[in-house]
This record gives sequence, structure tokens and C-alpha cells, in this order.
Amino acid sequence: VVQLGMPTRSVETTCAYCGVGCSFRADVQGDGPDAKVVRMVPSKNGGANEGHSCVKGRFAYGYAAHKDRQLSPMVRDTIDDEWRKVSWDEAIAKVADGFKALQAQHGVAAIGGISSSRCTNEEVYVVQKMVRAAFGNNNIDTCARVCHSPTGYGLKQTFGTSAGTQDFKSVEKSDVILLIGANPTDAHPVFASRMKRRLREGARLIVADPRRIDLVRSPHVEAAYHLPVLPGSNVAFVNSMAHVIVTEGLHDEEFVRERCEDADEYLAFIADASNSPEAMASATGIDPDELRAAARMFATAGNGAIYYGLGVTEHSQGSTMVMGMANLAMVTGNIGREGVGVNPLRGQNNVQGSCDMGSFPHEFPGYRHVSIDHVRATYEQLWGRTLDPEPGLRIPNMFDAALAGTFRGLYVQGEDIAQSDPNTQHVEAALRAMDLVVVQDLFLNETARFAHVFLPGTSFLEKDGTFTNAERRINRVRPVFPSKVGMDEWEITCAIGRAMGFDDMRYAAASEIMDEIAATTPTFAGVSFARLDELGSMQWPVYDEKSTGTPIMHIGEFVRGKGKLMETVFVPTTERSTRKFPLILTTGRILSQYNVGAQTRRTPNNTWHPEDVLEIHPADAEVRGISTGDLVDLSSRVGSTTLRAQVSERMPAGVVYTTFHHPVTGANVVTTENSDWATNCPEYKVTAVQVGVANVR
Ligand code: SF4
Repeated sequence: VVQLGMPTRSVETTCAYCGVGCSFRADVQGDGPDAKVVRMVPSKNGGANEGHSCVKGRFAYGYAAHKDRQLSPMVRDTIDDEWRKVSWDEAIAKVADGFKALQAQHGVAAIGGISSSRCTNEEVYVVQKMVRAAFGNNNIDTCARVCHSPTGYGLKQTFGTSAGTQDFKSVEKSDVILLIGANPTDAHPVFASRMKRRLREGARLIVADPRRIDLVRSPHVEAAYHLPVLPGSNVAFVNSMAHVIVTEGLHDEEFVRERCEDADEYLAFIADASNSPEAMASATGIDPDELRAAARMFATAGNGAIYYGLGVTEHSQGSTMVMGMANLAMVTGNIGREGVGVNPLRGQNNVQGSCDMGSFPHEFPGYRHVSIDHVRATYEQLWGRTLDPEPGLRIPNMFDAALAGTFRGLYVQGEDIAQSDPNTQHVEAALRAMDLVVVQDLFLNETARFAHVFLPGTSFLEKDGTFTNAERRINRVRPVFPSKVGMDEWEITCAIGRAMGFDDMRYAAASEIMDEIAATTPTFAGVSFARLDELGSMQWPVYDEKSTGTPIMHIGEFVRGKGKLMETVFVPTTERSTRKFPLILTTGRILSQYNVGAQTRRTPNNTWHPEDVLEIHPADAEVRGISTGDLVDLSSRVGSTTLRAQVSERMPAGVVYTTFHHPVTGANVVTTENSDWATNCPEYKVTAVQVGVANVR
């Protein structure tokens, strides 16, 4: 029973869960750090949600006041020692002195940092600034590495910028929607409602997903085609779609000739019979006639829009697939107006923003390479430091370097790499090999088991700043109550930077950090807290103070000038089913939980999904003697775990599915280190596994 008090005040802020970025009014009782949120009311003025919300944003905010929350800095000498509570000054000094000592002994590149997509743009900006200027290297990465880094790479190569092309409202003008590797009903519920509304008005839907997701058939919505693409064959699928369109003369000849480059090479490549649905059928598992019919529909039904999720990016060819979808949009002329485009459904609340803010080892804020002299000079002048022109280490490279003994210290803000990253055994070994692991988080998460310093972070209800959602919309996040830990997260990072000898990390307020971002990043030049407060939100690029933002990109011209058509050759993954591991595991999420579950597991949402389960096709279950509710062992070549089975016709035979919300299951114990060739995004969606009734009572 929830006792609701009467609110005494309200604060407009932004949901801290998924990349839809819904706006809420928090009704609050009391003041100070112990003020209580009475209810979260979706805001009718929210640009992304227009008064709608889901079960996460509306109800799952109680974790901010959960008893597990750590409110004091803590240190210990070894990971076997007990934690000891210390003052902020002592904790910051231990971090700074420890990092400096490691650099003195092992070199400048011996330490690095990981920023969080759950944090604000301002918090992420100062982390990358600390790493580049105070650490003196580019060993900065973000949890986008393990989700949408191929989006960043693929869209930059083809269109010239690392972001989705449309605003959410654009879907209201779509005539046909191609949904690939995404399950918005569970992962992006408010956008799913918007999409369903358009489908009920008559737009057609093509779902490409191995799993029979809700949108294939739900009340008043039925997909025209469900193409159960086998895990690992996305590029074969998208090439086949484009092959049909080009060879049947259904492509937009004028758009291709006028707005794209490398057209002749691409058209010859894609028209080759090796890309036909028939030639690719054994890889994709799709009936060629069905695929041909779906391709014709996409090319001829009017405005065609592509929406996609992690079922695209988390593959060894994730970046190739993003480029393949960009090709498909370009050959059909579906770019540069409402109702069309290539639209990544971003996972975390600020995964777009954390990428925008330069938390990649090769790019400054605004996706500008660290080797570009004039960009580096801008920051060198402002920060008074010489900056490294060489890209730094990505997260998996940090793990490898740790095991090789050259990477010795890590600052991790708000990411639980020991639960979220693939091949848990490898991650844990790398963390154990480091001399100083600093975890900044709300809770003593799985990664904190390997930490020497714990710095308590703040929840979204304590943050002042901005999040950027999947449609590039910069939303304000406002503090509902002051920091429960006595410092804001950006202040903690700045204090470490200063203690390491870099003094240009002093801001009176988060708004001053945004002012620095605007002064140095052309796509944010017209952004300030004052303008956001006045306008509600803005979608970057905002090139100056006259601009109110850019809902649709690439109108008339691509950011890179002409769109680049790429020869997206299909290369099968090396992860194949074998006699020992005959099934393919693919992973995903569920409506009531969020990622590693650190937040939602500490709310009433946990009662709806108290454990991860393994979905398995009836035929695969029957031959193994498995019934719904049985405990089963799930094993791969790297590890094994035990969880409960759910026999389900949603799965195709030969493919099983689970989520990774609960550390007790630890699904990433079985996922491998295979990764995208361009970005190292892990191949979470393809793991060869065996399943059997568990040997437990
Ligand atoms: Fe929050 Fe996403 Fe739900 Fe909106 S759809 S309330 S942003 S979790």
C-alpha cells in the first residue's frame, strides 16, 4: 500500500530510463535531501511524449531513496578488505594520488575512464575533459560502446553525422515502417504507442526480427510481414531488400544520381545475383518470395521509414548493417523529409548525449576526431594543456591491456561493466588485474566488488543538467531535491581533475558547463539552459542563437554533402552453432525492467519480472524434456548459468532468448567477446549455446 501525501511543490524534469526521453512533472512533498516524490505526472508539453508515459518512468523512481543507496565515500586497500567510510577530501586524495603514482610508474596511458549514459551531458563532458586534460590521454569510453557505437560509426560514414535523421513526430507521416531488431513495446513504450497510432491509421508494418515481438500482432495492429531473420544475417537481409528494389527498377534514380556518391559502384554491387533473396535464403532463413514482396512494399508504399534497435548493432557486422540500412533509405529516396529516415531507437536515457559529449577515445564533443589539429587547438587554448592527437583505448582494449599489465587504473562512472559487458569472466579478470578501480555509482554494484574506492553518485532526481534523447532532443533535467551525498557528480569529477593538478575544472553551476560545450561545439552553439528553459527543448544541431533546433536532418543536402553509398558485403559471424552448442542465444529487455536492473530491481517493478527466464521453442524444449518453469542450464564455450525456462512460440526453432536484468542469472556469463569489426560493440545477439534441464533439486 502506497501512502500518498499532498505535494507541496512541483519540478519539471526528464525520465532517466530509455532514449525516448519523456518529460515529467515531479510532485514533491517537503524540501532538502529527504524531500519525497509523491507522484510523477507525464508532461503534456513534453516534446517527446506529449503527456504519455510508461511503467518505468511513472512508477520506478523509488530507487533514489532506496536503503541500498550508498551516501558516503568509501575506500579499502585490497578488494578483500572491508569498506571504510571516509571524507570526500580523503577519497578524492586517494584517487588522485593513486592515479598519479600509477602514471609515474607505468606511463601516461596506464589509466582511463568510462562515462555513463545515465549521467547528464554536463557530467559526461567533464569526465572526458578530466581524462583528456588531467590524465593526459584519450582513454575515455562510454557504455555506448556496448550498444549503439555502430550507429555512430555507420551513420557518420554514410550521412556525415552520428545521429538519427528524424524527430519522433515524423512517424505520423510514414506510410510503411520497416522495424529491424527492435522491440519498442518493451524497450521504448511511449514511442511504440505513437507508432501503433500511425499503424492503426493505415500505415503498413514490416518486422524483421527472429522473435515474434508484440507488434507482429497486437490489438488493432498486424504486421504486413514478419521476417524472422536468423541472428547474424542482418546484412544478408538488408542487401537482399536493396537487391530486389534495384533489380526491379523500384529505386529512386533521381535521388541516387543527384544526392549520393559512388552510385555506379553500389548499384553494380547490389544488383549482383549473390545478393538476391534466393542466394541469401540459407543465411537469412527468409522465404525469398516473402522478402521480395516486403521489399516491393517498402519501395512503393510512399514514405518509408526504418526504425531499429540493438538487434542491428550488437553483431560482428553491426556497423555494416547500419550502413546497409542507410543504403536502403538512400536508394529509395527516403531521407530528408517527414515520414522517412533511418531512426535508431537508443537504449539509455542519455546514450545519444554521452556520444555527443566526446566520450569516445577518438572523438572530441561533436564527433570531431582527436587528430584534427584545429579542433585540438580549440581545446588546448581553452584548457591550457597539450592534448594527445592519438585515439585512446576502447573499453575492451582497456580490459586486454589490464591483463597484459599495461593498464592499471580505471575510473567508472555509473556503468556496471561486471554485469553489462560480455564474457563476465574476462571482465572480472581484467578488473582484478588493476591496481586502482574507482566506482562512482548509486549502489555497490557488481563492478564495485573489484573496486578500491567507491564514490557515491546522484540519482536523476538530484541532477541539474540535460539529457539528449534518440531524436537529438536536448531536455532539461532539474533537481527535485539536493544531492543526498553532499556533492553533484560533476563536482566529484572536477575535484579529482583538480587534485591531479589540472586546475581548469571550476564551475559555479552546471549551466556553466553547458556554456563551455556551446562555446566549443558548433552543433551546440545555440544551446544554453536559459534557452532550453524558454523553449522547453531543442534538437541539435543548433548552430546559433537564432536557431530553435533541427527536427529533420539532411534536407536538400547531407551533412557530409552527398550521401555515401557503401558496398556492404555480408560476412557471416564466426560464432556458429555446433554439435556441442546447437542453439543460438539472443538477448534483449522487458518492459518493467531496465538494463542491468540496478534501478528497477529496487522498485515495485521488480515484482512483475523477478527473474530472467529463457524463452525456447516448443520443439527445442520437447527434445530436451523441458517444460515451462523448469530450471535449465544455459552454457556456451565461455561459461554457463542457470535460469528458468519458458516454452514459447514467439521463438523460432533453434533460437533461444533471455534478458540480463538480474545479476543472479548473469546472462553475460555466456556471451562471448566477438564484436563489431569497426567499433568493438559486443555481439550479444549471437551466442552458440546448449540448454538442458538443470542438475539441481
Ligand atoms: Fe521513461 Fe522511456 Fe518510459 Fe518514457 S518510454 S517513461 S523515457 S522509460
